Amino acid sequence: MIVVLKHGVTEEKKAQLIAWLQALGLKIHISDGEFQTVLGLIGDTTNVDIDLVESLEIVDSVKRVTEPFKCCNRKFHPDDMIVDVNGVKVGGGNFVMIAGPCSVESEEQIVAVAKAVKASGANMLRGGAFKPRTSPYDFAGLKATGLEYLRIARQETGLPIVTELMNIMDLPLFEDVDVIQVGARNMQNFDLLRELGHLDKPILLKRGLANTLKELLMSAEYIMASGNERVMLCERGIRTFSDYTRNTLDLSAVPMLHQLTHLPIIVDPSHATGIAKLVPPMALAATAGGADGLIIEVHNDPIHALCDGAQSLRPEEFDELANKVRAIREVVA
Ligand code: PEP
Ligand code: MN
Repeated sequence: MIVVLKHGVTEEKKAQLIAWLQALGLKIHISDGEFQTVLGLIGDTTNVDIDLVESLEIVDSVKRVTEPFKCCNRKFHPDDMIVDVNGVKVGGGNFVMIAGPCSVESEEQIVAVAKAVKASGANMLRGGAFKPRTSPYDFAGLKATGLEYLRIARQETGLPIVTELMNIMDLPLFEDVDVIQVGARNMQNFDLLRELGHLDKPILLKRGLANTLKELLMSAEYIMASGNERVMLCERGIRTFSDYTRNTLDLSAVPMLHQLTHLPIIVDPSHATGIAKLVPPMALAATAGGADGLIIEVHNDPIHALCDGAQSLRPEEFDELANKVRAIREVVA
C-alpha cells in the first residue's frame, strides 16, 4: 500500500503517522521527492483501514499496490533512481557506456582495451575474471589475477570496474570492485542476491535467459529488501525460437521496466545478439528506446579472444558506435 502525503506536511505530523503505521506491524519506506512524500507500507496491510488513512488531514491519497515487489516499485518511488558509481552517475537522465572484453585475458589486453574505450567515451570498464561457461572445459577466467589486472586498468584510466561474482565465497576478493555483476545464470541464485543486499556497493543484475520481467524485479527486490538499494537492471536478451541470433533482445523491456521500476536499465546488445555486426544497430535502438546505458563487449583481437570473440567489437568499431550513440542521445533528448 502506498500513502501519498500532502505537500508541505510538517515533520512532526509525518512522524506521528509513521509511528502509528509502524505500531500496526508495518515497515515504512519513506520516499521524499521534490514535491511529494510517498510512504510505502511493507508487510500485511489487510488490517489497515484505507478510508481512515485517507481521511487524515495530512494524507493526499492511498493506493493498494498489487505487485509483489515493493522496494523497486516505481509507485513507491516516483523519481528515477540515480546510482552513483564512484562519481559516475547512472539513471535519471545520466547515460553510461560500459565497455570491455568478455574476459580479462592478460594485463596488456585489459589495459589496452581500457585505454581505447576510455578514449572513445566509455564511462566504465567491464571484464570477467570469474566466467560462467557452458562447458567445463572452456576458459573460466583468470580469477583473482584477473581482478588484479582490472585494478591496474582502473588505475591507468580512472574507469570504474564492473565484473561478475558467481560465488559468494569469492566476495572478499571483490571488496574494491566498483560494480558487482550478477550474471544471467545467477539471476535467481537467491542466497547470492541476499548476501549482495548486505553490501554498500552497486549491483548490475542481468536478466536470466528465460526469465520474465516480474522475476527480474523480484530478484532486484531480494537485494534491495536486504538493504542495498543500488541496483541496476540489465536486459541481455532472452531465449526464443529465433534461430540466427544467440538470443532475442527484448527491447520493449526497457520502456516497460521504466514504467514498473525507478531503477536504471542497461542494455547488453553483445550477449543479446552474439554477432558483432548486429551490436551497433541494437545498441542504437536501445539508446533511442530510453535505456540508461549500454554494456558492450570490446576486444583488441577478437579472433583470438578466449571468450565471445564473435560478438566483440574492435576498439575502432566501438569508437564509431560511441559517436552514433551520442548523436542518437541528442536526437531523442
Ligand atoms: C557477461 O556479461 O560476460 C556474461 C556472461 O553475460 P550473461 O550473464 O548475460 O550471459
Ligand atoms: Mn561475454
